[in-house]
Amino acid sequence: MRKPIIFGNWKMNKTNAQAQVFFDGVDAFANDKADYGVAVPFTALATSVNAAKNLHVAAENVHWAANGAYTGEISIEMLQEIGVKWVVLGHSERRQYFNETDADVNKKAAVAIEAGITPIVCVGETLFEFEADKTEEVVRKQVAGCLSGLKGDDVANLVIAYEPVWAIGTGKSATVEIAQNTCALVRDEVRNLFGGDVADKVRVQYGGSVKPDNIAEYMSQEDIDGALIGGASLEVDSFKAIIDAM
Ligand code: PEP
Repeated sequence: MRKPIIFGNWKMNKTNAQAQVFFDGVDAFANDKADYGVAVPFTALATSVNAAKNLHVAAENVHWAANGAYTGEISIEMLQEIGVKWVVLGHSERRQYFNETDADVNKKAAVAIEAGITPIVCVGETLFEFEADKTEEVVRKQVAGCLSGLKGDDVANLVIAYEPVWAIGTGKSATVEIAQNTCALVRDEVRNLFGGDVADKVRVQYGGSVKPDNIAEYMSQEDIDGALIGGASLEVDSFKAIIDAM
């Protein structure tokens, strides 16, 4: 039985003061029906980790190198120092605006796992690929590329977020059928690469315009173990409504 996992993704939103308001309003409402968390900007990580008693806190990125001449980047050790235990990797905005590749995500996932930080690895096709009927090909390739060389036991413990790029921040969510089918093929690719036990354990999220009023439908699907949520994770009331809908 896989425990549901719901994470918000604040992207480039919220100051420390705003992060504190969010935790003051939401943290006490996290229940034991799921793992709940939020991915927050680097500058709000320390405040968030200190404020979070029940919610998990994720970084939105990390660099694979231990240290060195990578201006503007953040290392694993820096995350560890402030007690961060989760990291979102390969979000489509990182891929689109910062040219992040599956190989980059793979290196980042490996160092995160080594450090005891759990990756949430994002995959998903663009609108062009979706319309060209390439979803399966693209998503299988991303899963294989991002997880290449990792140990099965480590893959079993991480999270894969299927986020069709055309459904992120657009208000256009994938149908429940599309979300279920693609999450199932993510799991199937894990099965091909790492075997049935790992595939049964790995948690697969759907992401793309998930809201309080549609989350229950996604969560009722066999291969959808949770959600990665952008817009609806920004406000206290909407995140609380998501928790209530679980
Ligand atoms: C996201 O940021 O990963 C996301 C899914 O955003 P939204 O829920 O706003 O579509």
